[in-house]
Amino acid sequence: MYIRTLRDVKATLRGCKTLLVKRYTGTFWVRRRWLSKTQWYKPEQLREIQLSLLKKVVAHAYRTVPYWRGKMDVLGIHPQDIRELEDIRRFPIISKKDLKEIGDGIVSCRYPQFLLNTAHTGGTTGLPVPLRRDLFSIGNEHAFVRRQFDWASVGRRDSVAYMMGRVVASPSEKLHKPYVYDASMKELTLSAFHLSPDVVPTFVDAMRCYGVKVLVAYPSAASVLGRGCLQKGIRLPLKCVLTTAETLDDGKRQVISEAFDCPVFDFYGSAERVCYIHTCEHGRYHILPEYGLTELERADPPNEDCCQIIATGFWNMAMPLIRYKMGDLVLPSDEECPCGRHFPMIARIVGRESDAMVTPSGRRLGATAIECLLAHVLYGMYEMPVLAGQVIQESASDVVLEYVPAEGFSEKHAQQLRELLERELPDEFNLSIRPTRQINQTPSGKFLSFVMAEHH
Ligand SMILES: [Zn+2]
Repeated sequence: MYIRTLRDVKATLRGCKTLLVKRYTGTFWVRRRWLSKTQWYKPEQLREIQLSLLKKVVAHAYRTVPYWRGKMDVLGIHPQDIRELEDIRRFPIISKKDLKEIGDGIVSCRYPQFLLNTAHTGGTTGLPVPLRRDLFSIGNEHAFVRRQFDWASVGRRDSVAYMMGRVVASPSEKLHKPYVYDASMKELTLSAFHLSPDVVPTFVDAMRCYGVKVLVAYPSAASVLGRGCLQKGIRLPLKCVLTTAETLDDGKRQVISEAFDCPVFDFYGSAERVCYIHTCEHGRYHILPEYGLTELERADPPNEDCCQIIATGFWNMAMPLIRYKMGDLVLPSDEECPCGRHFPMIARIVGRESDAMVTPSGRRLGATAIECLLAHVLYGMYEMPVLAGQVIQESASDVVLEYVPAEGFSEKHAQQLRELLERELPDEFNLSIRPTRQINQTPSGKFLSFVMAEHH
């Protein structure tokens, strides 16, 4: 019925295996029931859970991980010294760079090879670092994902379309159907790498044909698809759209919500699986306390208005990461959410620490400053027949806005874009605009709002 191509058959077989691992090898069902209760716990109860999970990870790391044993011996920390959450601060902060140097020394010797699964760090800089996961942690992870879906009212039987870094075929390959359907997981994978104005109707047809109710995508990809639908007058109502991995600005949120006639939920996670943040029914960002111990530390200039995420994951015992620095910035918040959950909150996710813009006079603009500058440009752009845009700093003094024009784009709009750019960006730059067929993507298929050209 739904299986149409050989690729679908392969995807479905792979899906069966994944489903088995996610739901039946570990403690998925137990964890799922537990999480449905803990979300309503009081702050003291949550701290209690965190402390007991932290003690478990530290003790396990000391017993079975050569790197941690060595480190703790040198620092004079014994697992029994962890008496409260604040004791985590006795550990040093480690980064992706450290992980690369440590190599397999940070892998627990308790797990035989066949119980391990390997993933890689994401990100745009440097080589990816291998990450080991034990099969049991995968069931737990899946339980957290399902609870996130609960918050967004996504049911187990709802078909979900993914438009992120998953590769359907090589981006350079021209495909008649740049998507694949896995009937066991009810997942349709749309290739973000093939997304262009011409592909929009193909994607919409596929989503309709497989009865897709939910879209999980990068905000930029979802907004390109959404813009395409609005432009062509295509109606595709969904239950919700979940976005991740890029900043969700108000312009994109509005386009997505209007195009698919549904709420937009945003989330933050990473391959390292140490920190998980997502929005609730009220659109507020919550840090999941049962997932890991997340510390927010004031970031260095020019990002001092933001906080760094430093996190200790509770579930992946194959490769325990203690005080891992994510390199992502958030704006903290001390609000209480009307949803009634006592999970810590943040105002929003700002971006990467490394994305600073330097003006010709040497002024360094941090992530929030760039966000502010670009917000008006991007917002104004979405009022025009433009599918997507990206601001590129090509040299110390040259900044270009690349845009994908949609039907009806005229010289008048080009002039408006130029004016917008000149109004919002520092006039020290030489500013220009340039049409393109497709926005540059990162190796994982993300479209960033601001990039620095390679040679710069
Ligand atoms: Zn809430």
